Order: sequence, then structure tokens, then C-alpha cells
Amino acid sequence: RKSTVIITGASSGVGLQAAKALANRGQWHVIMACRDLVKAEKAAQSVGIPANSYTLMHIDLGSLESVRQFVNNFRATGRSLEALVCNAAIYMPLIKEPLFSPEGYELTVTTNHLGHFLLCNLMLPDLQKSPAADKRLVILGTVTHNPDELGGKIPPRPDLGKFEGFAAGFQNPICMINGKQFEPVKAYKDSKVCNVLTMRELHNRYHESTGITFSSLYPGCVATTALFRNHYPLFQKLFPIFQKYITGGFVTEELSGERVAMVVADPEYKQSGIYWSWGNRQKEGRESFVQKVSPQARDDEKGKMMWELSAQLVGLG
Ligand code: NDP
Repeated sequence: RKSTVIITGASSGVGLQAAKALANRGQWHVIMACRDLVKAEKAAQSVGIPANSYTLMHIDLGSLESVRQFVNNFRATGRSLEALVCNAAIYMPLIKEPLFSPEGYELTVTTNHLGHFLLCNLMLPDLQKSPAADKRLVILGTVTHNPDELGGKIPPRPDLGKFEGFAAGFQNPICMINGKQFEPVKAYKDSKVCNVLTMRELHNRYHESTGITFSSLYPGCVATTALFRNHYPLFQKLFPIFQKYITGGFVTEELSGERVAMVVADPEYKQSGIYWSWGNRQKEGRESFVQKVSPQARDDEKGKMMWELSAQLVGLG
């Protein structure tokens, strides 16, 4: 029998290619957890994922209610769960005013962090229940979470502060984790720091007792994905060229998906609490390595605060 992997945001980019790469391995059935099922079905067909190796299921990570509904729907399939990949994300660099989730929380942090935080917590018992010897939970990171790295130096830098915004309830007009003024690029970076903190806290809290492998990765700069759809058209045109010829960071969508599949399935990636990278500058045949995460993302006190406050905001506290 095949193992089951859930991939959020599998309707485009890295997630779609990760779904394809895992389906092609033959031992995986992929649950493509997407907000637009028509688009997801077209995407799956367009890259040739074999029809009997995936199932589409609805999730809107920008709505906590939808995340809970997804978990119920997944359980109703009766499948066991061997791997969960938290991949979906939004990046809205040009908006001037924040958008809000149905619960009233800023939408970038809700989609990228709070929705996945709730999903991870709700799905842990499902991963635990599976009799498989190798179970993994993988959360996508990014170099821009880390100002210590070249790709993370461009302002605005992420800053979770002391979680003043979360502590104050994170409701309009509060829309940043540190309670300060709205900055959409920073909201994205903050959410990705929370993704790495969530992976590390999951590891600290649950790796030893459950044996589940928790990890993150930076798949490389995948400059062609729809992540940049909300940027200026000129940026969308020049960014891939810049990454390809100037920084050397460019990675194809296929390769980024293959990297996710490796972290989900290959024996050498069965190491918990790890953040994998292939570096900022891509070289042919480059091997992955364990990358040190940013000062904020390796701060255990911040991890605990993030956990407790996020749990309250998503209704687990
Ligand atoms: P894409 O925009 O191509 O894919 C994002 C996916 O998330 C899409 O399937 C999108 O669905 C889905 N999504 C967005 N909002 C929601 C929601 N509310 N509910 C459910 N699904 C949603 O981006 P990438 O493939 O580039 O990004 C994937 C991951 O990789 C992200 O976590 C990103 O941070 C990370 N990453 C990307 C890098 C890059 O250079 N591109 C570099 C480093 C990390 P829909 O198709 O309906 O829009």
C-alpha cells in the first residue's frame, strides 16, 4: 500500500512540482490540499501527475474554520498519514492596507503561519497513528527569513519583537506580529520566521516522544513561480533574469519540487529539527547541507512565545 502525503498549495509552483515528484516515485499517494480545486485539477493534469496517484481536497489556509474542515474531510477518507508538507503561501508586496481573515487576523500571517500552525497541531495525532516507521512533517522556509545570509539582507527585515501584536489579540487595527505599522513584505518574512520557529518547536516538543521527523528547507530561489504574481510586472520579468545571471540563485520549479520530495522521502533527510539548504548561489550538482537558521528563528524563548500565543489565536490555547 502507498504512503500518503498531504501537500498544501499544490496547485502551482514548488508544491505542484513536489506533488509530481512524489507521485512519480510510485510509493506515494498525494493529497493536493488547495483552495481552488478546478485550478488544481488543471495543474495536476498539465504536469502529467498520474490520475490514480493524487486526490484533491479543499483547504483555505486563510481561514481557520476551513483548516478544521479539511482535517475532518481528510479523516473521513480513512487514509493513514505518513507525511505533511506545509507549502502554501501568499506574498503581497504592493498592498497598502492589510487584508484580514474571517477571524479578523492579518491575512499573510494567517495563511502562511497561523493556518499551518493549526493544521500541524491537528494532524499530529494522525501522523502518530500511522504504523509507518518513518513519518515526516516538512515546512517550507526561505532565505529571506534570515538577515545573516546574503539573500536575507534586503530590507525590510523580519522582526517579531516581543509578539506585542499577537499578545494584544492580533485584530484590526493591529496587523503586525510586533504590533507596529503594516508592511506587507515584512509580514511575509515574519510569517516565514514563524514557519521555522514552528518546525523547531514541533521538534523540541514532539520528536522524542513521537519519532516524527520535523524539518524545513530553502529550495533555492524559484523566481518563476506565481509567488511573485502580486509584484510589478517589470519585477516579474527581471527577477528571474537577475537571479539567473547575476546572483546565480535561480532554481527551476521542477528542481525545487524534487528537493521537497527528497526531504519528504529520502533516508538521508530523516533528521529532525533541521533546516536544509542548497545555498544562495546554485552550482551544478550541489549537495544539500544543514543551514543555521536566523537568530530569531533559533531563539527558543521566541519559539515558546510564538507557540503559546499562536495556540491562543487559533483556538487551541
Ligand atoms: P506559488 O504562488 O506558486 O504557490 C503558492 C501555493 O499556495 C499556490 O498553490 C496557492 O494556491 C497556494 N495558496 C495561497 N494561498 C492559499 C490559501 N489561502 N489556501 C490554500 N492555498 C493557498 O508560490 P511558490 O511555489 O513559489 O511558494 C511555495 C512555498 O515555497 C512558499 O512557502 C514559499 O514561501 C516557499 N519559497 C518560495 C521561494 C521562491 O523563490 N518561489 C523561495 C523560498 C521559499 P493558488 O494556486 O490557488 O493561488
